[in-house]
Amino acid sequence: MKINNSTSIEDAITLVPDHNIQQKIFEVQTFCSTKYFCRQQLIAKHYAWDGDSTPETCGKCDNCVSCIEDNVQELPNAVDDVLEMMETVKCLTAHHENVTPKDVVDVFTHAKTIDMESKGYISSEAYKRTYVRKVLVSKDLALQALNDLIVCGLVKQVCELKRQKERQMTCNTYIRGVVDNAVQSVRNRSWVYLAPCRQKRSKTSKQ
Ligand SMILES: [Zn+2]
Repeated sequence: MKINNSTSIEDAITLVPDHNIQQKIFEVQTFCSTKYFCRQQLIAKHYAWDGDSTPETCGKCDNCVSCIEDNVQELPNAVDDVLEMMETVKCLTAHHENVTPKDVVDVFTHAKTIDMESKGYISSEAYKRTYVRKVLVSKDLALQALNDLIVCGLVKQVCELKRQKERQMTCNTYIRGVVDNAVQSVRNRSWVYLAPCRQKRSKTSKQ
């Protein structure tokens, strides 16, 4: 793995792996963690050329089976919610350092946690936004959308490996902002998610 040695302090060294490698690893990680999208469809989409049609769901993979077991439904296009998430990312990263994916999701869903309080996010501009989420009502759905934004390359994420004493390594992931023209790219695609029918609107969602 190509490593760029970025900083060096007395007892720890921060290593930032090559961005393209990080992106590929994250894509695989996201593929593995996907719960309801048919894996055959996902692979077909990944290798599709422009104009290629998407095959039907296979009905056999673990995700297709989960869809049946959990009685999932297709949610409406979440494009407005995704655009709001982009604003949350922009707002947070403009005023705070070391923003994690969890921070973005917690602020976006207006979570009231000790972590949010201690990091000063509850009084932040991003947290005070009054947008009413329509589709991404749960933290799980919000995280899926954030992961998709990262996989699409519209939200920038870095992974820092820190070498500590005694050969220990820690890994921290930070959100660094959005790319130029990201809003138009978000508008140009559909953001359709699947969720169990039993799922109710999140209590943390502002009315
Ligand atoms: Zn399938």
